[in-house]
Amino acid sequence: MKGREDEGQSLISPEELADITARLSEHPFLKLPKGRLSVSQIEMYLRCARQYMLRYVRDEIRPPGVAMILGSSAHKAAEHTHHHIVDHKVPASEEEVLAAYSDCYELGLVDVPTKAKEDAEAFKVKDVGVELVKLYNKHHAPTVQPRVSPDGTRGIELKFEQDIAGVPMLGYIDLIDVNVPVGISETEYHMLQSRGVTVPEDMRTCVTDLKTKGKAASAGEIRDSLQLTVYSFVTGILAVRFDQMIKTKQPKVQRITDYRSPADHLWMQEIVRSVAMSISAGVFPPCNPVEWICSEKWCGYYSQCRGRKM
Ligand code: SF4
Repeated sequence: MKGREDEGQSLISPEELADITARLSEHPFLKLPKGRLSVSQIEMYLRCARQYMLRYVRDEIRPPGVAMILGSSAHKAAEHTHHHIVDHKVPASEEEVLAAYSDCYELGLVDVPTKAKEDAEAFKVKDVGVELVKLYNKHHAPTVQPRVSPDGTRGIELKFEQDIAGVPMLGYIDLIDVNVPVGISETEYHMLQSRGVTVPEDMRTCVTDLKTKGKAASAGEIRDSLQLTVYSFVTGILAVRFDQMIKTKQPKVQRITDYRSPADHLWMQEIVRSVAMSISAGVFPPCNPVEWICSEKWCGYYSQCRGRKM
């Protein structure tokens, strides 16, 4: 049988293959379908291991929902304005961020089934995102100062590839903001700034994840967020924050800040290691049927899993 390479269409480049082989040989006991884990993979595994198996082992990809497209488009708009702040010291104009949002949204819709597109139009989903992007750009972006490292690397959509507890991990950090009072009050922070005192970077640096959500995260959600703990661990920054774009009837943006401790880092490593070992052992149980995700409405794999015809 003729392989893809014979046809001049190699699935992966020799460099990528060498990279994957090197990584796997460093971790001979691990069998990860993508050669490494991400926070979203771990979260999916913990939500429903069977769903993880269908998505990552069998590679059965479902088209993204409109809510996910709205979220990634709002991220794109925020990323655009963050780069503008580094380049010009001020956020991008409203017109520019809305164009970044709109381009990404329209592109994302291409793979969405017609019915879901019609529903999104009926509920004016795109308009909700427009309001959120405007609010973020007006109220949050003006206070943001993305970190720029001495080598020029910006703390915007910052990629990391790092072993955690011996498990290769890959991720992107939305923002490292160096204009946040950490360990001092906002009043003290602004007073120091107004007197021309340079606040040390570790007293004003926070790792931030942008969230587009139906309702504001609770204090417990930010305290327990695995994603923020991973970001804190790989950057060594203890202050963490959600910048939330909340899709309520009256859209709003909201910040919520927390801190991570060495104990949080340790527990996160235990989770990463355990999930990697379970995946490598081929353990993929279905989730508890009472979980909200285990329904036709929320699980894209329902018809071939719990809902399959006998
Ligand atoms: S139907 Fe339920 S058990 Fe099956 S993949 Fe979906 S959430 Fe998991």
